[in-house]
Formats: sequence, structure tokens, C-alpha cells
Amino acid sequence: MNFLEERIIKDGVVKEGNILKVDSFLNHQLDVELFDEMGAEWAKRFEGVEINKILTIEASGIGIACVAARHFNVPVVFAKKTQSVNLDGEMYTAEVESFTHKNKNHVIVSKKYLNENDKVLIIDDFLANGCALQGLISIINSANATVAGIGIAIEKGFQPGGQIIRNLGYRLESLAIVDGMDPATGKITFRN
Ligand code: 5GP
Repeated sequence: MNFLEERIIKDGVVKEGNILKVDSFLNHQLDVELFDEMGAEWAKRFEGVEINKILTIEASGIGIACVAARHFNVPVVFAKKTQSVNLDGEMYTAEVESFTHKNKNHVIVSKKYLNENDKVLIIDDFLANGCALQGLISIINSANATVAGIGIAIEKGFQPGGQIIRNLGYRLESLAIVDGMDPATGKITFRN
């Protein structure tokens, strides 16, 4: 078991509806030392890959992306969630359905901060159905930038997002892949 899997076993709480609560270290209280270890691990896995920017999505991705960025020496851009979009041509937009909140948001990134020269590493906390990632990929494509890779903290491998993204040919590095979790017993199993 790696450091993140160990932490999930220690402090993660399995909820009904396929939700893993990790509020004590990832989503509410933030364990910055752990984020630093995660950043170092992604830097190792993406060694030799040209990356000049990290893209994430508010809110939970931001802290992880910022600490990871210290290992890549690149700026972080985060996609903002908004209910209404003012399509004034200054923004890239995509529609994203929220797995946890069951609503749809537009996500926007200013054209000022993403362009065709960018080689982008996407970072996010969770991968479930892949909607958030597909929104971010579509924004990168709109900018004619390149997806250099994708770093996810926790992938729920029993939901389809990971397979969809890998089938599209993207390099996806999830630090922990949960293959099963049982709200009755709290038991969590990981992919080897
Ligand atoms: P997707 O778009 O892949 O369906 O869901 C990804 C987003 O939903 C993540 O950015 C994360 O915020 C949220 N999410 C999905 N599943 C979980 C979960 O089990 N626990 C938590 N805490 N967040 C989740």
C-alpha cells in the first residue's frame, strides 16, 4: 500500500451513494505535507514530460495543484465554476455535471491564461465518472493547447471515468485507485 492508500484506510469514511469522505486531509482540512508527497510522486511519474502549466478546477483541486506545482515549477490555473456564462469571447467554457452536488455548472478559463503553446498537466482530487476531467480537456482543446498528462489523487475505479479517459489515450496517473468500498463495513479495497 502506498502513502495515500494508507491514509485513506486510516482516515477515509465510506458513505452511501459511492462517496468517499476525505474531509480530514483532502477536502476540508488540508494535509499540506501529504499534498507535498503527492506532488513529488507526480513529478516522478511525469519525469521527462514537457509541462509548463497545471490546470485544475475549483475548489478542491486548487490546494493540491498549488503544492504539486512546487515540484514542477509552473503556474497553476483553475477553472472557475459559474451558473451563468457571459459569452463575450474572452473565456473558454465547458459544461460539467457535478458528481457530488448533482447539478450542472459551466466552468470557465480566461483566454489570457491558456494558449496553443501550453503543455498542460491536469490535477484534481477525485475521478468518478470523468465529467470534470472531460470539461477540463475540452477547455484545453478549445485553446489548442496540449494535454501533457493527468494526475488524480483518488480514482474510484468502479466508476467509468478512468477507463473512459485512458481509452481516449490520455496518460492518467492516479495515486490511489479504489476498486471497492462498502458503506456497511467501511472496508476499502485498492487496485494493485
Ligand atoms: P467526476 O466528474 O469524475 O464524476 O467527479 C469528479 C469530481 O467529483 C471531483 O472533482 C470531486 O470533487 C467530486 N467527487 C467525486 N466522487 C467523490 C467522492 O467519492 N468523494 C469526494 N469527496 N468527492 C468526489
